[in-house]
Amino acid sequence: TPTIGVLALQGDVGAHLTALASVGARAVTVRRPDELALVDGLVLPGGESTTIDKLLRIFELRDPLQARIKEGLPVYGSCAGMILLADRILDGTADQQTIGGMDVVVRRNAFGRQVDSFETDLDVVGVSDGAVRTAFIRAPWIEEAGRDVEVLSRIPAVDTQGRAVAAAGRIVAARQGPLLATAFHPEITGDTRVHGLFVSMVAGERSRFPATVRR
Ligand code: GLN
Repeated sequence: TPTIGVLALQGDVGAHLTALASVGARAVTVRRPDELALVDGLVLPGGESTTIDKLLRIFELRDPLQARIKEGLPVYGSCAGMILLADRILDGTADQQTIGGMDVVVRRNAFGRQVDSFETDLDVVGVSDGAVRTAFIRAPWIEEAGRDVEVLSRIPAVDTQGRAVAAAGRIVAARQGPLLATAFHPEITGDTRVHGLFVSMVAGERSRFPATVRR
């Protein structure tokens, strides 16, 4: 059973712990470097990316997390977590930094004010048995993705009533090696298949690199 941490500085921690446990992981909170060192994979939850960025430095987790990502730690970032995984961001605050690792440009709060929050069904590559129920909460999108990034999901051209969608074609889920990012929150809709995908990525990395990924 892989041990998967949820970064627990701020944001939607509890629902990720529940979702991970329901797909067979041992789910633990991570607030300290010694806790980070023990996990086989890590979830960066949604919340407020500027706040999580500051807290990562205060809790002295930023450098060890960057180091483990360079070593190949599987990380899943949702919403604010996707912002943290991006190498570059648009519409960040002046002093906002990311952890980086994914060769993407992410735009914060990309869906605008009127549609701050919505739920929708999206097909996600790697998730079988139909569309995933997703929630977007002041969500970002991926504006540009590098060559090594696999696009897993885009906003469709029309909604379920056949009306044109303003954000049509925007990338909202992607993968680069052991890094997975979604603009949406799958943990609050009760659909645990994205967590299942991440757990299988973690299990795959453990068998590929048993000595480097496990401590
Ligand atoms: N708008 C938030 C940010 O910029 C992200 C929102 C979320 O994680 N639900 O960090």
